[in-house]
Amino acid sequence: MQLDVDSVILAIGQQPDLDFISDSDGIELTRGGTIKIDPETLATTAPGVYAGGDAAFGPRILIEAVANGKNAARSIDTFLSGESSAPSMRVTIEKIPIDDYKMPSAYEKLTRKSPDTIDVGRRTGITEVETIFDEAEAIKQAERCLSCHIDTIYDPEICVLCGRCADVCPEKCLHFVPIDEVDMPEDQKKIALDSYGIDAESDQLTVLLKDDTACIRCGLCAQRCPTEAMTMERFNFVETVE
Ligand code: SF4
Ligand code: SF4
Repeated sequence: MQLDVDSVILAIGQQPDLDFISDSDGIELTRGGTIKIDPETLATTAPGVYAGGDAAFGPRILIEAVANGKNAARSIDTFLSGESSAPSMRVTIEKIPIDDYKMPSAYEKLTRKSPDTIDVGRRTGITEVETIFDEAEAIKQAERCLSCHIDTIYDPEICVLCGRCADVCPEKCLHFVPIDEVDMPEDQKKIALDSYGIDAESDQLTVLLKDDTACIRCGLCAQRCPTEAMTMERFNFVETVE
């Protein structure tokens, strides 16, 4: 058959090649052609055999496959040792000395660059279509990271309401507003006023609002703050297995 078309898009279905599994292995497959597993432990139907990633869940992202690998490792440890190895998460918060806090120059203006791709005529079989960045470009692209594990922390107890932080913020994401103008339940307003011993009739409470989605972690607000009421702090997540 011959058809006149404007463009052709190749849609490639992908599925794992599980031909290496035989009936004697005792590993059942699903009707979708993936390995049947317990989604909690990642145990297959064969004792002591575990599976994850696309082979068990179908097409997913690499990060999930890595997480599956960690979960399966825990299950294997439990299987071999007979003892449960539940992970525990510890969070530490580290205040960064503001003189040490520095983002790469003009990082907020860097644009995302997609990797180059090879010519259509060379895309055969499972050839990778995207080429890799060279080292310099990889470093430049990594500089676009907004360091979301670092955030501004505000201490209202030592804030002198000078407004410098809001003035200097390049993204205009900090705003000092009277509590009366904040759209929040009245009972919560009362709790806030009471906690500072403020009489709503005669005095006013100012609230600092921050649009976290607009913050680029430049640190200028913390640099400008005269009292260290605004600081940059790093959250570290450490997973340990007992
Ligand atoms: S870190 Fe930068 S963008 Fe974020 S609130 Fe402070 S000044 Fe604004
Ligand atoms: S710069 Fe510091 S002291 Fe001044 S308003 Fe901002 S947080 Fe408060």
